[in-house]
Amino acid sequence: MSTSTDRPTPIDTRTKLVGLLGRPLGHSFSPAMHNRAFQTLGLNYCYLPIEVTAEDLATVAAGIAKMNFAGYNVTIPHKIRIMDCLDTIDPLAQAIGAVNTVTIRNGRTTGYNTDGIGFAHSLEAAGEPSVKNKSVLILGAGGAARAIAMTLADQGATRIVICNRTESKACDLSRDVNRQGRECATAIPMDAATMAKALRETDILINTTSIGMHPQDQQSPIANHLIQSHLVVCDIVYNPPLTHLLKMAQEKGCRIVRGIGMLVYQGAASFQLWTGRDAPVDIMRRAIRP
Ligand code: NAP
Repeated sequence: MSTSTDRPTPIDTRTKLVGLLGRPLGHSFSPAMHNRAFQTLGLNYCYLPIEVTAEDLATVAAGIAKMNFAGYNVTIPHKIRIMDCLDTIDPLAQAIGAVNTVTIRNGRTTGYNTDGIGFAHSLEAAGEPSVKNKSVLILGAGGAARAIAMTLADQGATRIVICNRTESKACDLSRDVNRQGRECATAIPMDAATMAKALRETDILINTTSIGMHPQDQQSPIANHLIQSHLVVCDIVYNPPLTHLLKMAQEKGCRIVRGIGMLVYQGAASFQLWTGRDAPVDIMRRAIRP
């Protein structure tokens, strides 16, 4: 039975387990975020950090599928490799090429990727309800960029420009996005003149590189003079909560979207997949930043 309470739910024979598979996990906010949410909604679930090596991943995933787990999250370095261990992959996760959430129903495992959806929800929560008819410029072409680009293309963004230090990776991502059916993506080189021109035609700028992440708090992926006041500027880096890029954008009068929102909403989407319940996002956010 589920009741709303702030008391910890006792672990018993009916407890459903969920967890996080990755290595190392020392820094992860997910156990605190999910366990607080379960506790608040009085759901008999428990979220466990599970450090696992690449060699043991398939064995651990097979074992978990036979246990009282409702599913799990997957993080670095297993987001791609886990796909070989699952029964079904959701089409969006397949297009992204990585899984961060697994559900287990009647012993069958299905892989999803909630990173892009989490980003889209964080944009919505920050006052940007839809990317339809919007032009987006993504800095970076790594795992998070793939999830965001595929999801925003799926949601109807008019134009997605990808700009990455290693230009060939930007070209690969743009080609993969276009293969999904809509010719909306292009790649540009990371030089100031090309970026300035592209940014004049951009509505939403998203940093998905790790530049600006603690301890490089004073670094920004683009120079100050390239930031234009009409832009909505998003940074998925969440430590520090207000990155150097976001500070500069704020000073220019841009609307900004912090990375902590994506972190909370990707977790909320996983929570919904496991429990069928809407996640208490404010509670989850407070569990990360009391
Ligand atoms: P990733 O796959 O390793 O990709 C890293 C990206 O950053 C690549 O495009 C890389 O360019 C670029 N990059 C790294 N150092 C650079 C530098 N010095 N100059 C220019 N570009 C550089 O990592 P990821 O999983 O996508 O994660 C990226 C960041 O997003 C991390 O900081 C991570 O913590 C954050 N993140 C946040 C959330 C959230 O929920 N808010 C979720 C996922 C990730 P190259 O291709 O040229 O190497």
